[in-house]
Amino acid sequence: MDTEQKLEVLGAAAKYDICASTSIKSGRPTGRDTIGSHAPAGICHSYTPDGRCVSLLKVLMTNSCRNDCKYCVNRVSNDFERSSFEPEELANIFIELYRRNYLEGIFLSSGVQKSSNYTMEKMLAVAEILRYKYKYRGYIHLKALPHSSPDLIERGAQLADRMSVNLESPNPDRLRLIAHEKNFMLDLIEPINVIQKQIQKGLLKAGQTTQFVVGAAGETDLELLKTTNWLYKHKSLKRAYFSAFVPPEPSSQGQVASNIKKVPLIREHRLYQADWLMRFYEFKLEDLVLQSDSNLSLELDPKMVAALKYREQFPVEINNAPFKTLLRIPGVGPTAAKRIYRVRKEHRFTDINELKNIGVVVKRAKNFILINGKAQGNIKNIVMAKQLELFQPVPLLLT
Ligand code: SF4
Repeated sequence: MDTEQKLEVLGAAAKYDICASTSIKSGRPTGRDTIGSHAPAGICHSYTPDGRCVSLLKVLMTNSCRNDCKYCVNRVSNDFERSSFEPEELANIFIELYRRNYLEGIFLSSGVQKSSNYTMEKMLAVAEILRYKYKYRGYIHLKALPHSSPDLIERGAQLADRMSVNLESPNPDRLRLIAHEKNFMLDLIEPINVIQKQIQKGLLKAGQTTQFVVGAAGETDLELLKTTNWLYKHKSLKRAYFSAFVPPEPSSQGQVASNIKKVPLIREHRLYQADWLMRFYEFKLEDLVLQSDSNLSLELDPKMVAALKYREQFPVEINNAPFKTLLRIPGVGPTAAKRIYRVRKEHRFTDINELKNIGVVVKRAKNFILINGKAQGNIKNIVMAKQLELFQPVPLLLT
């Protein structure tokens, strides 16, 4: 396989790893003999047709893997032609494309060839060539492979802006069902701990992330959200990614051997919305409302579900509601809530159109608010409210 073909194959194989735009100041000094922007312009990214966010050079070191994770196209039992880059080869391609302005960063992941440490050495070699030979100062996201040794992760943290470990499942029991070679605590949480220590030392300015493959192990949304919440609180996680499991198409990448069913993309979307509420809307995990099967509603977004479940707390007066209460109103995001807060220091709101002008989605908000004591709609108009009896608050945290 020539280099171009490898890039095609190993770039396509990386599509199951999710990343998103990252805007950081790396703090690395630049000079006339260096290349790569460390300005907060961020890594260039694009969206695949199914809506996933991908960076422009997202690539695997190799699609060979000794493991046999049931959900993964690269698993050892999948019979297809394998390919690998040599570190110099991949670094050269990247720099070539970089110099042509085709991309602004690299996201490097890999299958586990021979051993995690063997493959991590190769991935680190790519980063070292970029940083030391080409004096590249741009964005590098390195995947830490399961069971990587702490010294390799420490080396990676000196080179990369972000590192990540894919948890794939929310707990040991679920992971065992789909990836029996991996030990949840030793192979995945331990590397996360080592990465966290590097972040605490001031390295990895773009932090660490993780990814879950949703629905592969029969886990519930509650399990995923509990683990995500724990990672945010205790492991300095910057962001969790959720990837609805999609069985790979039969192709040159081998036959479909997995009997795991396709998961609707809307489930992934609802998890992102719930995650967003916890990160930016001051929702605690226990503020989220789940169905009796411990999953989020697919029909309604989690903020609307919570508002309808606790409808006795509405309508709220827009002119004096506390900031946290403003954030609970469907149609009011953090930016709009801040603007409401600012504007009402100057004058009272009297007209719903004023809210529209500062970014409130009035259509969603009107049934939940009062303006100067005057109702703008009626929560009873929301037909779906009747169905909310089926929903339960999230049970108390176990972690
Ligand atoms: S270790 Fe990674 S690449 Fe290998 S089979 Fe599992 S998920 Fe796929």
